[in-house]
Amino acid sequence: MGIKILVSACLMGHAVRYDGRAKPLAHPALDRWRAEGRLVSICPEMSAGMPVPRLPAEIEPGKIADDVLASGGRVLESNGGDVTAEFRQAAKNALALAIEAGCAYALLIDGSPSCGSSFVYDGSFSGDRRPGEGVTAALLRKNGIQVFSDRDIDALVEAVARSD
Ligand code: SF4
Repeated sequence: MGIKILVSACLMGHAVRYDGRAKPLAHPALDRWRAEGRLVSICPEMSAGMPVPRLPAEIEPGKIADDVLASGGRVLESNGGDVTAEFRQAAKNALALAIEAGCAYALLIDGSPSCGSSFVYDGSFSGDRRPGEGVTAALLRKNGIQVFSDRDIDALVEAVARSD
């Protein structure tokens, strides 16, 4: 059956984002992988019990995903609510599913405090980005799963072709 790929559920067209929307990605490789049974879909935040819609959340200023995983940083909602425990659980759920399903790769929506892999928002809720990754992406990478953003799907296509 070939190598498996963990995929952000919102990227697969599921309306699970904090704003109640999806962020579907159209690419022929996705259609092919779906037909080949390679795709394993999860919304980490929903898997940890977070509702849809929900308040936007960002890693607090000055901290990175590794701090959150190591209990030295928090993830906060726009009203100041602390959702650190949920975000840690979300990452653990995604990793457990990836291991159970045998995923070597993950294709995740960039910018999310969970799924981001090259940038996240800076914790000020002003729309400013900074380089970095979300909590789920960080935990997956620590455990040997290669994470690609939605913008890097062509690189993932090459990686999958090399792996088969
Ligand atoms: S946690 Fe990931 S899968 Fe869920 S809505 Fe956010 S970006 Fe999409």
